[in-house]
Amino acid sequence: MARFIFITGGVVSSLGKGLMAASLAALLQARGYKVRIRKFDPYLNVDPGTMSPYQHGEVYVTDDGAETDLDLGHYERFTGVSARQSDNVTSGWIYQKIIARERRGDYLGATVQVIPHVTDAIKEFALAETDDLDFVLCEIGGTVGDIESLPFMEAIRQMRNELEPLQTLSVHVTLVPYIAAAGELKTKPTQHSVRELAGLGIKPDVLLCRSEHFIPQSDRNKIAQFCNVRPEAVIPALDAPSIYSVPLQYHGEGLDTQVLRGFGITDAPEPDLSRWHDVTDRYFHPEGEVTIGVVGKYVGLQDAYKSLNEALVHGGLANRVKVNIRWIDAEIFEQDDNDITAQLEPLHAILVPGGFGERGSEGKIASVRFAREHKVPFFGICLGMQMACIEGARAAGHGGASSTEFGPTDEPVVGIITEWMSKEGLQQREAGGDLGGTMRLGAYPAKLSANSHVSTIYGGVTEISERHRHRYEVNVAYRDALESDGLVFSGMSPDGLLPEIVERPDHPWFVGVQFHPELKSRPFDPHPLFSGFIAAALRQSRLV
Ligand code: GLN
Repeated sequence: MARFIFITGGVVSSLGKGLMAASLAALLQARGYKVRIRKFDPYLNVDPGTMSPYQHGEVYVTDDGAETDLDLGHYERFTGVSARQSDNVTSGWIYQKIIARERRGDYLGATVQVIPHVTDAIKEFALAETDDLDFVLCEIGGTVGDIESLPFMEAIRQMRNELEPLQTLSVHVTLVPYIAAAGELKTKPTQHSVRELAGLGIKPDVLLCRSEHFIPQSDRNKIAQFCNVRPEAVIPALDAPSIYSVPLQYHGEGLDTQVLRGFGITDAPEPDLSRWHDVTDRYFHPEGEVTIGVVGKYVGLQDAYKSLNEALVHGGLANRVKVNIRWIDAEIFEQDDNDITAQLEPLHAILVPGGFGERGSEGKIASVRFAREHKVPFFGICLGMQMACIEGARAAGHGGASSTEFGPTDEPVVGIITEWMSKEGLQQREAGGDLGGTMRLGAYPAKLSANSHVSTIYGGVTEISERHRHRYEVNVAYRDALESDGLVFSGMSPDGLLPEIVERPDHPWFVGVQFHPELKSRPFDPHPLFSGFIAAALRQSRLV
């Protein structure tokens, strides 16, 4: 029987509920429990796939092809459990399903209402595929009191009533601000937030109090008294020096112990936290450092490249080095007054990440050229690989090489795919069709050429599976032209039609991949492409 932990947030947004959920799940997992984390997003988009990275941060893609909230990335990275389509739901998704049922006449003439129809659909989602789990952590997006999260709160209230008495637990994450002028911590916002939650029929069992300052026992007691929570279950959650410290820090404050106690479990095995000790030891005691330039488009908001940022750090953990990331707006290389050499020469490696649209593409292509000509380690991801192929084609004499994503071109080195094979069979799409959910999404296998650089990086295997999210592909018709000029197609889709990986054997480290390896990297299991890339940057750092 799975137990359910409902995680809500109060006072303000951006308290790091996702990280908190991921850390709690990691702590329960370290005690031998089987966990899964689900995210309930109250907004009306059906999924975040069409939302701007500036608005919502990166779109995290699962193996089964769902475009999900970036918190699912935290969940995967902290637990190693691959997220699924069924782990992220939005109000829009729920309403779309209900309205489709209503149009079909499935409700047999009933009036369709938030209670019970919407709340039932939410409960169904929370309960699905949970039989083999010990704990299901359900994180509710937004802040208590938001109009749009009310149906989710109501569904939680009902579940707490309908399941067994010790089968559910409510964790509320709040803020305890420090008022510098008064020199005091303030508990009132927490009290108000808990009252708001209680007004919705949910009494929290554990309070996780985010604060910039130490919370003395007297304040914890006060919070406990006013909020009707045991004093030990008021857990201080101070800012951590790194996200990797959070599980150990929360364990030190008793979070997992109090959660288990809330379920009446007092004989749980002690957690094995060795992997977290190892990760934090590597993170806080690096033996060197490298500086990587990421030449992209959404560099103003780091959440837009969340998984990439983490995967680069993981590559650093694997090599015991600190990774400094310099975020560079590709567009600056399109202006005359910016000297690309001055910007890129001090870097130990260059990465061009995924992205959409033409803006900055010439700057990205110029960065690829710099990396190729100066033998600086280069890693191109998705759009980055496409730019590497366009740059390679131009170098090979195809001066007009471009992508049809940027407009009509006579040299479509990158073009739209309208047909491809997936596990479900042939997928088809029209060039002018919907933008939502129409990309090549999720895990696809690729075959690696034996003796290629990438097959060595992957430990000698010749078949891999990686996650995709793109609409365009490198045009296999240009293979001969590119290969004769040194850009080798070393990974292909099993049918040999879709280029998956390109590399330059005459370069110290030059790899482009059509997929997103950053989505599968974990701190305790860094992705081999990132370990290899950072190792190459380290070698480069000894040269410059
Ligand atoms: N815009 C490109 C495409 O749709 C690349 C997408 C990406 O980098 N994720 O194919």
